[in-house]
Amino acid sequence: MNILLLGAPGSGKGSQAELLEKEYGIVQVSTGDLLRDAVSNNTDLGAIAKIYMDKGELVPNDLVLELLSDRLKNRDCDNGVIFDGFPRNIEQTELLEDLLVERERELDIVVNIEVPFDLIITRLNSRRVCSGCGKGYNTITSPPKGENCESCGGEIIIRDDDREDVVKNRLDVYDKNTKPLIAHYSQKGIMINMNGVGKIAEIYEELTQYIKEKKVQ
Ligand code: AMP
Repeated sequence: MNILLLGAPGSGKGSQAELLEKEYGIVQVSTGDLLRDAVSNNTDLGAIAKIYMDKGELVPNDLVLELLSDRLKNRDCDNGVIFDGFPRNIEQTELLEDLLVERERELDIVVNIEVPFDLIITRLNSRRVCSGCGKGYNTITSPPKGENCESCGGEIIIRDDDREDVVKNRLDVYDKNTKPLIAHYSQKGIMINMNGVGKIAEIYEELTQYIKEKKVQ
C-alpha cells in the first residue's frame, strides 16, 4: 500500500504516519526528516538545504528528489510507503509519479488532513521534537513524561523552523505551492478529505475505516 499524506505543516501527518507504520508495516518517508538528517550529517546537500529550511522556504526540487530516490531504494520500502511532506508543489507530483512508475507502483490513497491555520499556529508553538530519534511531542496534548525522550533518551528541542516568523512563511508557502495539490489529487479520485481537528486516535480510527472500506492492500 502506498499512501500520500497531504496537509499543512502541523496538520498531524507525522502522528498519523507513525500509527499507520505500526499497524500496516509500511514505512513513513518524510522528506523533512531526510533533509534534517542531511543537515545534521553536515553534507553539502544539507548545507544548501538548511538555507531554505531556516526561512521556511521549499528546498529546490532536485535536492529533495536526490534524497527521496535514494531512500526509496532501501528494502524497507518494498512493502509500501507513507509519503509525508512530498510532493509539496505541482512539479513534485510529476517527480513522484515518475518514481512510482519506475518501481511499478502507484498511489493507493491520498489523505488530505485539514486543520484551520489558527489551530496550526498553536500546535506548532507547542510542538517539541527529540533531537535523537525525531519522536514528536506537544507540551499541551502529549508532553514528554520526563526531561528527555521516552524512546531514545535524546534531548527534546524546539525545531528551528517552528519559530513564529518562520511558521508564518511556511503556511504562506503551503498556501501558494502545496494547496493546489488538493485539486490535483481530488481529480484522480483517490483522495479522502479528513478533518484533522480532534484526538489523534479518533482521526486515525476514521482513516483506517476508510482504508478498510476501500479494501486497499
Ligand atoms: P517538514 O518537516 O515536512 O515540515 O519539512 C521541513 C522543511 O523541509 C520545509 O519547511 C522545507 O524547507 C523542507 N522540505 C521538506 N519537504 C520538502 C519538499 N518536498 N520540497 C521542498 N522542501 C521540503
